[in-house]
Amino acid sequence: MCGIVGYIGYEQAGPFLLDGLQTLEYRGYDSAGVCLNDGSELIVKKAKGKLKVLKDMTHDGEDLRGTVGIGHTRWATHGEPSDVNAHPHLSESGRFAVVHNGIIENYQLLKDYLTSKGVEFRSKTDTEVIAQLLEYYYKGSLVDAVIKALEKLDGSYALGVISQENPDEIIAVRKESPLIIGLGENENFLASDVTAILARTRTIYRLENNEIAILGRESVRIINTDKEEIHKEQETVDWDVNAAKKGGYEHFMFKEIMEQPKAITDTIAPRIKNGRVVLDEVSLSAEELKNFNKINILACGSAYHVGVVAKYIFEKMLRIPVEVDLASEFRYRDPIVNDKTLTVVISQSGETADTKEAMKEAQRRGSHVISIVNVVGSAIAVESDDVIYTWAGPEIAVATTKAYSTQLAVIYLMALYFGEMLGTIVPDEYKALVKELEELPDKINAVLENKERIQYLASKLFNSKDVFFIGRNIDYALSLEGSLKLKEISYIHSEAYAAGELKHGTISLIEEGTPVIALATHEELIGKIVSNIEEVKTRGAQVMCIACDNHKELEGVGEMIFIPKVCDMLLPSLAVIPLQLFAYYVASLKGCDIDQPRNLAKSVTVE
Ligand code: GLU
Repeated sequence: MCGIVGYIGYEQAGPFLLDGLQTLEYRGYDSAGVCLNDGSELIVKKAKGKLKVLKDMTHDGEDLRGTVGIGHTRWATHGEPSDVNAHPHLSESGRFAVVHNGIIENYQLLKDYLTSKGVEFRSKTDTEVIAQLLEYYYKGSLVDAVIKALEKLDGSYALGVISQENPDEIIAVRKESPLIIGLGENENFLASDVTAILARTRTIYRLENNEIAILGRESVRIINTDKEEIHKEQETVDWDVNAAKKGGYEHFMFKEIMEQPKAITDTIAPRIKNGRVVLDEVSLSAEELKNFNKINILACGSAYHVGVVAKYIFEKMLRIPVEVDLASEFRYRDPIVNDKTLTVVISQSGETADTKEAMKEAQRRGSHVISIVNVVGSAIAVESDDVIYTWAGPEIAVATTKAYSTQLAVIYLMALYFGEMLGTIVPDEYKALVKELEELPDKINAVLENKERIQYLASKLFNSKDVFFIGRNIDYALSLEGSLKLKEISYIHSEAYAAGELKHGTISLIEEGTPVIALATHEELIGKIVSNIEEVKTRGAQVMCIACDNHKELEGVGEMIFIPKVCDMLLPSLAVIPLQLFAYYVASLKGCDIDQPRNLAKSVTVE
């Protein structure tokens, strides 16, 4: 779930391990630790809490001796966050150390077995069974012990293993949880996420399920569980190293909010050629497309909210019924999905376990899957039938902004591309929409320039206990995202409501001073939402309203935020910006840990 790093070379490993863990901090974690082989034994340092505790304990890794080591940031799944449950975990004798992302589902069975053989456990984690199994099976070869242990493990894992007897190797293996190997000059690296090694190398191997990497100082071998050599292609990562740094901004989230015009340009520009949207990555012919009688969208969190927007857009523009499902619910409800259903899955990391499993369920039922993913080569990208990448670059803040916006941009591209293929969009409208899409990044810049206004409004509302977001149609879909953003990072309770639904219950919660954020961008429904605003104002609500600048007559219905007028389809991309900024400024005024909100992880690789 969280972060893994590893180093083997001729330099001291400590500083790299600590730096690498720092770049992975964004994923959200509750404890951190490292283990190095100092030439005679394994030395472990680990601590609950922020990485700073470990950094202070080891003087940024300078105190640690050893040229081979592994490190971890943990997001607890089994056993509370504590010093002893932090990784790396050692075997009973201290000769084997392991770091692990994921969950060992049968750990209790294995633990009971090993306990019956007299093995004593120290922690409450599922991970410790791996270290103990290694010792139990070790007969002189670390690789053999790892392979033996793997046979016993059920669940998901990315593992880094070192041992006292083998100071010249790290063993790495993965199943369902990402892991990459970085290749350097006389040094090699291990990481769960490419950002951890970008500063040292751009040449990597991306491990597949059940591939075992044996890292030495000068070479890396990859084998399968039958110990047959695997010849893998090296990849070169072209992410900008600064993209994973704060670059002068106080928080990654703010930097990423400001990067949205560029991220959207990067996502749409290569796919618009001579005024037409071209999605080469989609393998469907017009005939095949016409065969679908339903679109099924699967996602979690903010990506799910993109799906809710997409439902309005696809139904309107393609005239195909759309169902949007929370991926975690989809698998277990015996869904009606078959080869006449087109499935769209959305995941920033491409490793979201719920989404991945839901995707497999849809595939098992014969559905063609198109994924919208940010991380190249991630599991969902690889396993879907077609992948359309969002070119957002690394997103570091846990609360998504630019990934959400680029996912929306891909939805627009798909609507236009499929609409043209199906003939559901008339040519003039198509042309106008493509033009507006190309102008979108500039209009987003204009909204970003108005940020002080939102900061001012945030300063009026940041002490609130509850906030309501209301809207209709696409504005409702956006309300869901605005509300989630606020909750995630400011810890203020908030709810999103379809504006027409409020009076069917929730309006009883509106009292004197309750903040209501109303979205009134959807041209056709302005009259209706204004009535809903009046309903809450009558009950004492303080209203903040987002509307297009061709509706200046709304001035006075509340504290106004005007955004440029664009066609309905593109409105969410503009209206989401004030919502993101509002959440950001409120959290900042409250002094919250904006980039790493409590209890949240960036890439949720457990179900
Ligand atoms: N399941 C393991 C634990 O709770 C690993 C958690 C993680 O992926 O960080 O320690």
